[in-house]
Amino acid sequence: LNMFDQLSSALTEVARNFGGKQRMTETSIQPALKSVRRALLDADVNLDVATALIDGVRRRSLGREVMKGVTAEQQFVKAMYDELLDMMGGGVVAMGDDDDDDDDGNFDDAAAGGRGKRNKMKMSTSSLPPPAATLAYRGPNEVGPSVILLAGLQGAGKTTAAGKLALYLKEREVDSYAVSGMSDDERSNTLASRLPKRNRRVLLCAADVYRPAAIEQLEILGRSIDVDVFSLGTDVDPAEIARLAVEKARAGGYDTVVVDTAGRQVVDEELMEELRRVKRAVKPDETLLVVDAMTGQAAASLTAAFDSAVGITGAILTKLDGDSRGGAAVSIRGVSGKPIKFVGVGERTQDLEPFYPDRMASRILG
Ligand code: GDP
Repeated sequence: LNMFDQLSSALTEVARNFGGKQRMTETSIQPALKSVRRALLDADVNLDVATALIDGVRRRSLGREVMKGVTAEQQFVKAMYDELLDMMGGGVVAMGDDDDDDDDGNFDDAAAGGRGKRNKMKMSTSSLPPPAATLAYRGPNEVGPSVILLAGLQGAGKTTAAGKLALYLKEREVDSYAVSGMSDDERSNTLASRLPKRNRRVLLCAADVYRPAAIEQLEILGRSIDVDVFSLGTDVDPAEIARLAVEKARAGGYDTVVVDTAGRQVVDEELMEELRRVKRAVKPDETLLVVDAMTGQAAASLTAAFDSAVGITGAILTKLDGDSRGGAAVSIRGVSGKPIKFVGVGERTQDLEPFYPDRMASRILG
C-alpha cells in the first residue's frame, strides 16, 4: 500500500495540466499545487508545514523552463521531492543539539557524501544515503559512557524502542557497502563518520517506576537480545536509578547506557519535571522522544512540546509500518526543529532503522 495514495493521484492529475508546455506558469501549476495541498492535509501534515512545502514547490517551479529530456510533471515532482527532503532534514543531521543550524535548507554536505544528485533530475534513492541518525558517542577514551535518554507518552513504543536501540547499537555494522564497489577510503570518507557508531557495549536502564510491568518487559527484552538491564524496582527515584546505572556502566566497562523513562497518558508538568531531573542527574548525550506515527501531526506538536519543556535532540518515530498517511514523518522536523533519527517498522527488536529522508520522500511520492 502506498503511503500517500492521495498524493500520488494528485500528481497524476498534475500531469494532465502540463501537457506540452515549455514554461511553468502560475496558471499551469496552480491546480497542481491545490491538489497537492489537499493531499498533504488529508495525510495529516501540519498546516504550516503543508503551506511551506507548497510555497517551496511554487518557488522552485514558477517561471522555470522545462528542462530538456524531462516532462513538466517530472520537474514538478522533483521540486516536490526536494522540498520534502529539505523539510525532513535532507542529509546528515549534526550530533546532539547542533542540528538547528541546518534549517536554512543547505544540505550540500549531504549531497556530496550521499546522493550527490540534488540538482539533477534523478531522484531514485541511492543505496548509500547518509542517515540522519547520527548519535553522539563519547568514544572509549572519554570518561564515562554515552547516555541516551528515551522519553515519550505511554504506549508510544518507548520500552520496545529501548530494546531495539540497544540491539542496534550493540550489533556490528553490516558491511553492505562492500558490495557496492566502494573503496575503503571512499567508504570511510562518505559514511563511517556519519553512521552511528555501533558494536557498543550497552547497558539498559529501567527508570519507569510507575509500571512494574515496564521493568519486567525491559528485563525480558534485555535477555532476548543479550543486553544487561539495570533496575532497582519501583521504590527508588528515577533520577537516582539513572545515576546509579551510569555509575555501574562506568565501573563495568559499558560504553553506552540507554535509559527507559516513564510515560504518561498525557503531557503533564510532573512528567516533564521528572525528565528534567533525570537529565540533570545523567547529562545525556542524546534525549530522544519516542513518538507514534499513527498520531499524525499530533506527533509533531508533541515533539515541540517535549523539546520546549525538557530539551530533546531528536525523535524516534515508531509504528511507521502501520502508518498509511505520513503526516508525522513529514511534519516533525518542520514543527519542532528536531530531526527524526530512527524509525520503528515493526514489533520485533530488529525492526529499527535509521531515518533516511530521501527514502521517505521517494516513498511518499510513490
Ligand atoms: P511504551 O508504553 O511507550 O513503553 O510502549 P511499548 O514499548 O510497550 O509498546 C506499545 C505497543 O506498541 C506494543 O504492543 C509494541 O509491540 C508496539 N510497537 C512498538 N513499536 C512498534 C513499531 O514500530 N511497529 C509496530 N507495529 N508496533 C510497535
